[in-house]
Amino acid sequence: MYPRAFSYVRAHSQEEAVAALAEHGPDAVPLAGGMSLVPQMKYRERNPAVVVDVGWLRELAGVTVEERRLRIGATTRHHEAAAWRGPRELAIVAELAAGIGDPQVRTMGTVGGSIAAVEPAGDWGPAVLALRGAVRVASARGERTIAADELFLGPRRTSLAADELIVEIEAPLPSSPFATAQVRFQARAAAGFMSCASCVALDDAGGIAEVGIACGGLEEIPVRLDEAEAAVRGAGTPGSAGRAAADRIPSGPRDGNGFRRTVAARLVHDAVERALERALAIKEAAG
Ligand SMILES: Cc1cc2nc3c(=O)[nH]c(=O)nc-3n(C[C@H](O)[C@H](O)[C@H](O)COP(=O)(O)OP(=O)(O)OC[C@H]3O[C@@H](n4cnc5c(N)ncnc54)[C@H](O)[C@@H]3O)c2cc1C
Repeated sequence: MYPRAFSYVRAHSQEEAVAALAEHGPDAVPLAGGMSLVPQMKYRERNPAVVVDVGWLRELAGVTVEERRLRIGATTRHHEAAAWRGPRELAIVAELAAGIGDPQVRTMGTVGGSIAAVEPAGDWGPAVLALRGAVRVASARGERTIAADELFLGPRRTSLAADELIVEIEAPLPSSPFATAQVRFQARAAAGFMSCASCVALDDAGGIAEVGIACGGLEEIPVRLDEAEAAVRGAGTPGSAGRAAADRIPSGPRDGNGFRRTVAARLVHDAVERALERALAIKEAAG
């Protein structure tokens, strides 16, 4: 099918983009990589009157660490994130991005578009939750920051206003030795895609000081698993931390026969163990 007729506005700057979104109100939507929006328009599930193309705004692209914050520009393509060679504490960025879709999806899809799309099994949402991250959003009215915990409201639904544009994803880095990991499960026929992201920070004795764990595909939106996090704090040693987390996976409404919960338990176990092993290696290397 073809989309309904729409106007196309190519933004050449963040200011142009937010001005166009303000001018056209709820009739306008941002377009980034088009990997979700274009098929939805073709199937006429979404029929915006105006499409504001922000995908080519290079000023909003790039991955950096500044002042102990991870910053990922909204228009960073997945393949750019996959090629990022940052500190090994943040291995999750390239690990996650390299596993997304296929070369075409990674070439066009963006991190901001992926977060805004709120697809149940999207990979970036769980990572931002596990890292206790946030998105910086801009509109003609100014800028604000939305914590990841407040961002995902439902499938394809965020707490952004219609005229707001995600400009950056950011996350504070723990002050003690830490590491991150992502593991995924792909079996389209059985359950679609699921993933788990984790971040583990150590205390001076090598125990677990802080942990973030979040899953995609378990529920209709990415979810942070606070009970699993609580179980891991203090569990301490490799083996027991992953098992403690895996025992605290909630059963979601999508999970009639418990299959997703079983898969999530495995993913959570492996993600926590991988992050913990990496964190211990980083601490040992630092002396
Ligand atoms: C075949 C296939 C396989 C895929 N596999 C995976 C996978 O394994 N893992 C995964 O995580 N994802 C996967 N995806 C999704 C992909 O990651 C896309 O990045 C994602 O669908 C949307 O990103 P986009 O940049 O293409 O956004 P678009 O499709 O352009 O936009 C998506 C939504 O976000 C809004 N939007 C876009 N940018 C912004 C912004 N800066 N601020 C506010 N709103 C914005 C749009 O208005 C729209 O509502 C797959 C997609 C396809 C088609």
